[in-house]
Amino acid sequence: MTIYLDHNATTQPLPSVVEAMQCAVTDTWHNPSSMHRPGQAARRIVELARGDLAALLGARPREVIFTAGATESISMALLGALDAAPAGRRAIVISAVEHEAITELARVLAARGIDVRTAPVTGAGITDPAAVEALLDDTVALVSVQWANNETGAVHPVGDIARLCRSRGILFHTDATQWVGKMPVDLAGADDAVDLLSLSAHKFHGPKGIGALYVRTGLRLAPTTPGPQELGRRGGTENVPGIAGLGAAAREASAWLANPAAREAGRALRDAMERDLLALHPGAAVNGPPSGPGRLWNTANLGFPGIEAEAMLIALSEAGVCVSAGAACASGSIDVSPVLAAMGVAGARALGSLRFSIARTTTAGEIGEAVSIVRRALAAHADSGGGAG
Ligand code: PLP
Repeated sequence: MTIYLDHNATTQPLPSVVEAMQCAVTDTWHNPSSMHRPGQAARRIVELARGDLAALLGARPREVIFTAGATESISMALLGALDAAPAGRRAIVISAVEHEAITELARVLAARGIDVRTAPVTGAGITDPAAVEALLDDTVALVSVQWANNETGAVHPVGDIARLCRSRGILFHTDATQWVGKMPVDLAGADDAVDLLSLSAHKFHGPKGIGALYVRTGLRLAPTTPGPQELGRRGGTENVPGIAGLGAAAREASAWLANPAAREAGRALRDAMERDLLALHPGAAVNGPPSGPGRLWNTANLGFPGIEAEAMLIALSEAGVCVSAGAACASGSIDVSPVLAAMGVAGARALGSLRFSIARTTTAGEIGEAVSIVRRALAAHADSGGGAG
């Protein structure tokens, strides 16, 4: 048995997702832009999924644009907002712990003359609204701060930052890829200061390669991929099987989120796993906020000083446990994750950092088995003299 504790692997499609996608491939495979009856059946699948995703977000269906995942959604949001911004607003603000989907784009934007400003994070990896405020002026077009971090699970106060931006007439975008489906979102209510939001289906048991951009009603973006589909906001024939899978995953997530006890049970499972893992190694510590509202219920990023994370990842993978490393060997040197570096996590702890994530479907039995495998792998690592040196 393989135990998936890596956040990219814990989101295996659910049966309902697979069925929806199969149906879209075998029965409703037609082009949703075609006017004939089967084409309109495909259109219906797309629009039902749009409604299901809108319900998950507390948004209106017309505010949802389907994309090929979060990366495309983020590009559409940032490029589209900058292209549509008034002359003189040529700066953006991001946090220091954004995913590469933002940081790589920011590099491209900076090369094109955009003033990219980076807000620092606390030692726990959280963006302080005051740090963002210090970077705002009349030249800022948009602020983008992730909702939750993919490596540490740190939750950023996006509501406060969004309201701050609104009060200054600045657009606010959030990369909510790690948040959507795991925690509630209410874009028409508590979260209504968010203007733009990016997500990816495979983080909540949907398929890979499909996501969406939420664009608040009344907000106009310059289209980055012009074409008639998606109301002229994203050209290209829709990925109907992907959209059908996303819709099914959104329905399942909404049902799961309706019961807050379910995610508290997930948190208790993660906390037990974390406690058992920390006890395995002297000096082991959590990278990120303590368990509670400041950290997603599914993520544990742990530093094991003295171990070599990548070697441990491979050993665990061979033993059937999938995790991610916070540091990797690259051309003879060791690259520490920029997220850990921004938090000030350095030295042996950074080099020995591993990220464990659980899913809605993870069981206590799987956690127990995974902890035993980690115990054996740590012992073998020590016996082999392995270490970060
Ligand atoms: N943003 C975050 C926080 C992520 O974790 C990921 C994927 O891991 C992405 C963006 C990119 O998503 P995608 O690969 O679907 O484009």
